[in-house]
Amino acid sequence: MTDSELKAILTERLATVRSRIAVASRRAGREPDKVTLVAVTKTVSTRVASLLPELGVPDLGESRPQELWRKAEALRAFPIRWHMIGHLQRNKVERTLPLSYLIHSVDSARLLDEIETQARKQNLRPQVLLQINASHEDQKHGFDAEELAAILPRQETLTVKIVGLMGMAALSPDPEQARHAFGGLKAMIDKHRGEHASLTQLSMGMSGDYEVAIEEGGTLVRVGSTLFEGLEGE
Ligand SMILES: *Cc1c(COP(=O)(O)O)cnc(C)c1O
Repeated sequence: MTDSELKAILTERLATVRSRIAVASRRAGREPDKVTLVAVTKTVSTRVASLLPELGVPDLGESRPQELWRKAEALRAFPIRWHMIGHLQRNKVERTLPLSYLIHSVDSARLLDEIETQARKQNLRPQVLLQINASHEDQKHGFDAEELAAILPRQETLTVKIVGLMGMAALSPDPEQARHAFGGLKAMIDKHRGEHASLTQLSMGMSGDYEVAIEEGGTLVRVGSTLFEGLEGE
């Protein structure tokens, strides 16, 4: 496919996603521009990713650190904000930190400690989200309500800025199944915002459930397959 054919496909798909974001926002009485679309480029090439900023999407997400390094380094010249959205091993923090605009997936106190150590070493002020185990599936990473309450007060001593929460609903073909999990995340952030005013961002919603996430108060939606299906070979 040529670049212009690719751009035509992406333009059309982005228009659909944007209009759905707008409709879901209005349904919830929210401003559509309060929702940031993070295009999850994990299944597509650097070339496809490189077309997104000029189509108005500067926020790109990757779930594997090595893939984020590879794309971020190849696309250094592009105005892209990289979002680390998947599990981050502590030994990969050093290299991931300077390349990332926002790390969504801080899922343990030990990982937060390592990010803090590297932030000080590299003189960075990273922004992070704490990942919540919203679906209560044991194999999922993240903090529960009690662990969150215990870790938030540490914000005061940190260079790292905790700007919100991230969560995933259990996989289900029915987006309404996600509503309960998303509503729980919203209640959790609201509960702590009084004391921790920096908690403004709620990363929730993927291709199958981003409209429900917006209705429930999500501010960052992470959308991959709806945008990139069929473009994996390009
Ligand atoms: C892959 C991925 C997404 C995007 O999922 P789609 O269903 O393809 O939109 C969102 N969040 C995380 C953490 C992911 O790994």
